[in-house]
Amino acid sequence: MSRPVESVVHRSGATQIRLPSVDRFLKHEAVAAMVASHGHRFVVDAVRAVFAQLRAAPAGDVARYAEDDALVAAVRAHVVGRLAPRLRRMINLTGTVLHTNMGRALLADQAIQHIARTMGAPNNLEYDVDSGERGDRDTLVEALLCELTGAEAATVVNNNAAAVLLTIAALASGREVLVSRGELVEIGGAFRMPDVMASAGARMVEVGTTNRTHARDYQNAISASTALLMKVHTSNYAIEGFTAAVGEAELASIAHAAGLPLASDLGSGSLVDLSLWGLPKEPLPQDMLEAGVDVVTFSGDKLLGGPQAGLIVGRRDLIARIKKHPLKRALRVSKLVVAALEATLALYRHPESLAERLPTLRLLARDAQDMLDMARRIEPALRNALGQRYDMEIVSLKSQIGSGSLPVERLPSAGFSIRPSCVERRRGSALIALADALRALPIPVVGRVSEGALLLDLRCLEDEAEFVAQLDRLTFGGGA
Ligand SMILES: *Cc1c(COP(=O)(O)O)cnc(C)c1O
Repeated sequence: MSRPVESVVHRSGATQIRLPSVDRFLKHEAVAAMVASHGHRFVVDAVRAVFAQLRAAPAGDVARYAEDDALVAAVRAHVVGRLAPRLRRMINLTGTVLHTNMGRALLADQAIQHIARTMGAPNNLEYDVDSGERGDRDTLVEALLCELTGAEAATVVNNNAAAVLLTIAALASGREVLVSRGELVEIGGAFRMPDVMASAGARMVEVGTTNRTHARDYQNAISASTALLMKVHTSNYAIEGFTAAVGEAELASIAHAAGLPLASDLGSGSLVDLSLWGLPKEPLPQDMLEAGVDVVTFSGDKLLGGPQAGLIVGRRDLIARIKKHPLKRALRVSKLVVAALEATLALYRHPESLAERLPTLRLLARDAQDMLDMARRIEPALRNALGQRYDMEIVSLKSQIGSGSLPVERLPSAGFSIRPSCVERRRGSALIALADALRALPIPVVGRVSEGALLLDLRCLEDEAEFVAQLDRLTFGGGA
């Protein structure tokens, strides 16, 4: 069946082009090849979308589609654009290592390989190979977590927010949880300690004041309704000056004297002492357990450097109650996460090679001189790509860890400061044009704007050849 009717795109104006009927256009050799590769439905949708755009476009823009080849190219571009995955790699030159908007921790090669090896085949996610009976996905990482933290038992959920929610729901639902007023943390808007307590069905009892909380504040607040004492690591802010907080060891003895458990939400919770690599120290889950904390929760994709997950470690009886709670089923991790987490945790058995194998630690521990040397090597290519429009210089910068970890600490780094060279009133738009152009590269590049300059911090750039190779595709819109 052929439909010879062709639609006239523009009746008025100098150009009048006629679009072929969709059916006829599909018979075009190149279009038929696209149909063979990508399917009839998908290509027809693309053709219709391109034709619809042309019908709506100004006559002058449409004129160049008078030839079939131009139409085919337009449809191909549309198809390619729609087939490109939406989840893409980026080049993070913001200077923030654990960037929440860019997927936080990068997985180690070992984790990626373990996913690749186990995900395309049936696996023992919930199958006990020894007995031939049903297994428990937690056990695949529980022994490793216990080995690394000294805990009696462990369980894993979707993220640390889930770990905190589940811990409170399982241990304190319908009863009271004591927490210091200095620790009522909000993490990224949606996660606020008072709201989490409410969602978990617990009543939060605030003790002490914003800057000072004492042992007697907890002791006086303990009642028959108290189920849990809770310590929250103030990961994304610091209270300084006239302050007092009750340490884990002291709080544990207060809780235990009353027959109550103590839980600690660490947030990041590194498994190794970061000061070994010259980094600021974060509290370790193993130290918390050692001090007497009964349950510790921390993230999988912050300083640990693994997949998004929430790890819960601690006393066997409490972990058992947590695992039995109905919410556990809703918050459980997938097999991809189990694979990535197992391989990531295994790296911690060999701390000597950790800074080499674990990308998060490798990037955090990088020496500023390393970034400076890299900046000198990249400089000529970048200068060439920017042309006369921008002035640039190599500068010292300060990176940050990100994800709320160690919010006041900064790591010495190096990179570029780029400023528009045009007249002052056009500098704002020229800076935006530069940021837009960098994001429009095949692998989008993101820096940070500070005081009229675009800063490119090289701390998280490991493949400099890849970065340099795409610089000749840098094109600026009308702005600069
Ligand atoms: C980051 C953080 C959380 C939330 O962890 P996610 O893994 O992002 O869900 C909870 N508590 C503290 C103290 C944190 O720093």
